[in-house]
Amino acid sequence: MIGQEIIIPASHLNGQLIRIDHLIKTYLLGDVEVHALRGVSLEVSRGEFVAIMGASGSGKSTFMNILGCLDKPTKGTYVLEGIDVGNLTRDALAKIRNMKIGFVFQGFNLLSRTSAIENVELPLLYSSTSTKDRRQRAVDALQIVGLGDRIHHYPNQLSGGQQQRVAIARALVNDPSIVLADEPTGNLDSRTSVEVMEVFQQLNEKGITIILVTHETDIAAFAKRQIVFRDGRIKADKQNNERKLASEVIKDMPLNDEEEAA
Ligand code: ADP
Ligand code: MG
Repeated sequence: MIGQEIIIPASHLNGQLIRIDHLIKTYLLGDVEVHALRGVSLEVSRGEFVAIMGASGSGKSTFMNILGCLDKPTKGTYVLEGIDVGNLTRDALAKIRNMKIGFVFQGFNLLSRTSAIENVELPLLYSSTSTKDRRQRAVDALQIVGLGDRIHHYPNQLSGGQQQRVAIARALVNDPSIVLADEPTGNLDSRTSVEVMEVFQQLNEKGITIILVTHETDIAAFAKRQIVFRDGRIKADKQNNERKLASEVIKDMPLNDEEEAA
């Protein structure tokens, strides 16, 4: 088990996945204190699709690192599915991370000499899953993101959008409670970005909770809720009543070179 955790009975959670109270993160750079988060509070329920926006340096990545149990807050509480993760040891934090969180990064972060299916299997290597189950779950995840016919391709044999879909499959393979994505479309052209957002919207329709950082309003337009950070605080937090559907938007976009060639 996880040890040290504070369990709140599921009946008290009411669909609540994340509760954050007065989160503060201060980095020490030599003698200088950098106040990256200055008191952030919010709740996220199961099934939400949140876009986090804000200028460079406003604390978005710091916040995502704490959400993803990659880093601990200086002060404040973070409760994930009833577990107060702020008080856990590094080992316990790593376990929670492995069980509950899937990550997608701007740069895909795939192993280059490793096929799509092996990249997707990676998070399962630390669990007790059998080799056969591992394969099956990786194939299933690749099918969900529409890459069932590319499982043996290497990253350099895939387009940027396909590589990001492999990364999304890798994030899904552990059946996480939440998928965190930090600028997942930052390295993609605009059509491919919308295709990746279509994948996120499909996953969200299946009930997967998504929290995504972007500085592009066009991308945030696909989320159900938009939160804006400024100087380490939440400046705005609203439901997106004019949410766009990626599957619709894509119809009006010109094909990119690769698709044209195909
Ligand atoms: P964003 O992702 O919104 O661009 P960050 O969370 O990366 O913002 O950074 C917030 C602030 O914290 C910035 O002033 C940044 O320079 C600082 N910061 C981020 N990471 C570190 C670190 N490891 N050490 C010191 N300062 C940091
Ligand atoms: Mg950042």
